[in-house]
Amino acid sequence: MSYYVAAYDTEAVYPWWDRPQDGFSYTPEHIAEFLEGVDAVAGVHLERNAPASFFLVAKMLELAGPQLRAILDQPLFDIQCHTFTHPNLIALRDDKNALQYELADAKKLIEDTFGRPVIGLTAPGGYTDGFRGHPTVLEVMWEAGYRYVRSVGKGPNGTLPALLDQPFWYTQDGFPELLETPSHAWHDNILTGQPAQVHWPPLLPWPYPDKMPHDAQGVYRAYAPGIDYAVRHGLIYYMPIFHPWSIYRVDKQAAQITMLLDDAGAKMEITSCTPIYHHIHRHPALAADKM
Ligand SMILES: [Zn+2]
Repeated sequence: MSYYVAAYDTEAVYPWWDRPQDGFSYTPEHIAEFLEGVDAVAGVHLERNAPASFFLVAKMLELAGPQLRAILDQPLFDIQCHTFTHPNLIALRDDKNALQYELADAKKLIEDTFGRPVIGLTAPGGYTDGFRGHPTVLEVMWEAGYRYVRSVGKGPNGTLPALLDQPFWYTQDGFPELLETPSHAWHDNILTGQPAQVHWPPLLPWPYPDKMPHDAQGVYRAYAPGIDYAVRHGLIYYMPIFHPWSIYRVDKQAAQITMLLDDAGAKMEITSCTPIYHHIHRHPALAADKM
């Protein structure tokens, strides 16, 4: 049985298209559009009764907490953490106070807002090897109560797309009960125009699009072969990387998500991240490095 894991990195719009010279902002801009994007994605999932995880940048709760709660506080949704302000966590590995803020304080704000435990983290940007070799980051995570992390989210040398890495325990770094659940394929924001390094030659087991997708159908086609690949090769799961703001920028109805869920739902079971963590926790040998 292979799962399609629906997970959304929930941060605000990243406006490289209006002001590339000023750099980027993940948190304080375009709040209304951000909320519309979250609502569009949530709506597609609610219509299909399809579970999803939303990893929240906690700063967005300071800016729009009641609105986010109104959209996301549903039994179908798993609410987890995407740090407080979306920094590069490995760059903060020697700054314990900053890690506490980004990991422990963010977790507490999300837990207080939704009244539910947070045990999962998505690392901003993602890395080729995740937090392997970064025990100081893993230690703050573990102490704060995280039990799984999506920190593998890039291909070789920090390029895109991410490959189809499967879960592993951080045993070699001293945290045998902390699970990595890698994310897969394109980052939809980069697939649809945000500058980043893309690996050449192609490394995914299906072709790159021949041009940048501008609509829902094009985004769907760039991700969909992963569904059949995961089924055919018996992967534990396929977890493509998506952002509500970026989905919404391409299609106001999030039709790329509708198409993926309809396709996946016919071939696999759709789930969210925390149930996948519990499934692997019950069957630890499904992930590598278990001693
Ligand atoms: Zn992010």
